[in-house]
Amino acid sequence: MDLEVVQGDITTQDVDAVVNAANRAMRGGGGVDGAIHRAGGPEVLEDCRRRFPHGLATGEAGWTTAGQMSAHWVIHVVGPNYRGGERDRSLLTSCYANALAVADELGATSIAFPLISAGIYGWPFDDAVDAAVDTLRSTTTNVGTARLVAFDASAYEAIERRVST
Ligand code: ADP
Repeated sequence: MDLEVVQGDITTQDVDAVVNAANRAMRGGGGVDGAIHRAGGPEVLEDCRRRFPHGLATGEAGWTTAGQMSAHWVIHVVGPNYRGGERDRSLLTSCYANALAVADELGATSIAFPLISAGIYGWPFDDAVDAAVDTLRSTTTNVGTARLVAFDASAYEAIERRVST
């Protein structure tokens, strides 16, 4: 699998599936979640309600339509809320592994990830980067291209540095 790093907005990535850093309720939120629901439009929330009436547990992944975005699917994952005391690292790495498993079920061959838990949920930045890169590299998948999308230049530089070592 190719691992790419870009700086940009997760909602405008030209890939089969974009990953949402959702919360357990799966009814929208801030950060990536808010951006994805705004860009995808109301169909994303409708599909969340229909397919996930009880939301998702931390560390799990599930798909919906991507609505108006150019991607075909949103793969929603619930990262651990470090700020709220969820500090089991396997909950973070399983978000990446489970998202790739869902992509395989869908037949998605390109997927874009934000840096899960590194925003509102407060996971320490460098370890969030390590968890993303290590898990994407070590998971067996049919996905051909995984893209890590950094929102700003400093995040881009940090991820790029980590990927090139
Ligand atoms: P979490 O609640 O899992 O911490 P956030 O959405 O708050 O998720 O943030 C996750 C990461 O995504 C942070 O590094 C944040 O800067 C970044 N981010 C926020 N909005 C976007 C966006 N539209 N596209 C890509 N990355 C984003």
